[in-house]
Parts: sequence; C-alpha cells; structure tokens
Amino acid sequence: MARPSFTARLVNPPFHDPGLLISFQYQRRAMFFDLGDLHALSPRDLLKISHVFVTHTHMDHFVGFDTLLRVSLGREKELHLFGPAGFFERVEGKLAGYTWNLVDEYPYNLQLRVTEVGEERCRTRRYLCKDRFLRAGNEEETPFTRILVKEPAFRVEAALLDHRIACLGLSLIEEFSVNIDKEALNALGLPVGPWLTTFKKAVAEKKDPDQAFSVVWEEEGKILRERTFRLGELTEKIARISPGRKVTYLTDLLGSPENLENAVDLARDADHLFVEAAFLDRDRETAKTKCHLTAKEAGTLARKAGVKQITLFHFSPRYTELEEEITREAMEAFGKR
Ligand SMILES: [Zn+2]
Ligand SMILES: [Zn+2]
Repeated sequence: MARPSFTARLVNPPFHDPGLLISFQYQRRAMFFDLGDLHALSPRDLLKISHVFVTHTHMDHFVGFDTLLRVSLGREKELHLFGPAGFFERVEGKLAGYTWNLVDEYPYNLQLRVTEVGEERCRTRRYLCKDRFLRAGNEEETPFTRILVKEPAFRVEAALLDHRIACLGLSLIEEFSVNIDKEALNALGLPVGPWLTTFKKAVAEKKDPDQAFSVVWEEEGKILRERTFRLGELTEKIARISPGRKVTYLTDLLGSPENLENAVDLARDADHLFVEAAFLDRDRETAKTKCHLTAKEAGTLARKAGVKQITLFHFSPRYTELEEEITREAMEAFGKR
C-alpha cells in the first residue's frame, strides 16, 4: 500500500464549521481548504499553513481568517490566499478592521498574497504587514486555467460552482508518490532514517538525477557513516513510484444539473471526496432555496465521478439527532457501504 505524501482531515465535526486541513509529510507545511472556526487547531498546526483556499466568504467558511492572521503576525512568512469574485474586498475589509500602528516594530515581516479567482482570469494583490497591510505594488494577472497552484509534487485545481454567488470547488492532485523498497534498502546495507525524508523529497521534486546524494547515518550512537550515490541511481534501486492521490473538496453548491456536472468533472476519479450533505432528500426544496446539496445528491455525484471514498460534512443543525440517516441516504446513492 502506497504511503501518501499528504493527509487530509476535516478540522471540525460535521455539524460545525467546514474546513479541511491538508498536511504534507515531508515538509513542515500544510494547506487549508476553507477557513471556518479554527479553534480545534494548535498554533503549531496554523503556523505550517502556506496556502489557503476559501470556497466563498460566508461566515462559516471565513471566520477563521482572524485566527490565522493572529498567529501569523510578526512572523517571517508568506501566506497565499485564494477566493472567488469579491475576495479582495472581503480580505481588505478584514484587514481594515484592526489598528496597525505598531507593526513596524516587528522584527519579521508577514506578507499576504491574495488571489481572486474569476471566470476569465486570476488577479493577485500583495499586502505587507510592515506597511500596515496596505496594498503593495501592482496587481498581477493570469488567465484562469483551473490550476491555481502547481508545484513539482502536486497541483491544486478549482472549479467555479454556483451557490447563488461564485463558490470554488477544489482538488489537490499529487503528481506521483514515492515509496521505499525496504528489501532493496537492506541489500544496499542502508538503514532507515531521517535521510529518507530528504531523499523522497528530492525524488518528488524531480531533482537532477545526476546530482550527488549523500546518505548519512549514525552507527552505535556515535560513529558517523556516509555513502554517496547519484540521485538517479539510488532512485532506481530503492524508490517505487506510484500514481499520486487526488482529494476533492465540494461544499455549498446548488444541486442544479449544470453545477453537479461541473462538480463531477472536478472530482473525477478522486481517491477521497469530502462533500457537503447539508440536507436530507425529503427537504430538497429547502436545499434548493439555500443553495446546498442533499445527502442523496452528494452520494450520486460521488458515484458518477467514480471516487473511491467519501466523507460527508456541513450537516444542517436541524438534523442533530439524524446523523445516521444522512450517512445512510448518501451511502445508498453512492452505492457503497
Ligand atoms: Zn455558503
Ligand atoms: Zn456553508
């Protein structure tokens, strides 16, 4: 079984605010899909965040912005935030809500890079803490291609969905994952150890195969040993490369045919789909009015997209005693139990 390079988990239980925490294993780094209430997380978790993708700025998806900003203040850090149309105004409004007269005393500088995702183009603005979060420099503009972030090891894709306002659907797609063949490792006489993290990272980032890679380890607690390989040679011997995982996050969308089709497209073949199941099918009229999915719609779209596993969240508080019924309805439509 391939060990994934990241883990994804909901920040809160399904009746509380939405939010998905994605942690990368080889790096002290994480990302958020949505910024609901973040009090369940430690400052240590929050400080790992490099990228935040906000589906839309209804309060239950954005109230955590202040918590994240509070922890990040006075740190040397660049924080990337993405959101749909109107996002600049919302972020600037948040930043304008506080007094910043002492920030020039901070030794480190926090920088926000905020991207507003539109149908045609993405626009990015920068805000520096030391400048009291006034906008810095010119706005940058790129065409919207679905891909919001692309790094050697993964990419983040978005779809623009309808929640009577624009709402982002999000997928994290790993390019491939790297696993270590323990027998091959033994055959080379190399021990497991922290060097494997560096090694997997180098492979995942497609570093030059001709570059030297040194394996350093301790024997009997003190003798330092070292062996050097070509990265490509070591990769061939001990690394097993498998297709990467895909995680999709869908919440707050109207169950219209067009929206569902776009959502299915985004979630196609995902290993794990996190999907809202706000209402029961018997309340589908309310679901339509409030622009949310029913459990049945969530399960159906997961089946159509061919996803392997689903996790439901964002249940309406009216069903506090009916969690099992929501799950049953969605799983029946999904066709798996
Ligand atoms: Zn909403
Ligand atoms: Zn919501």
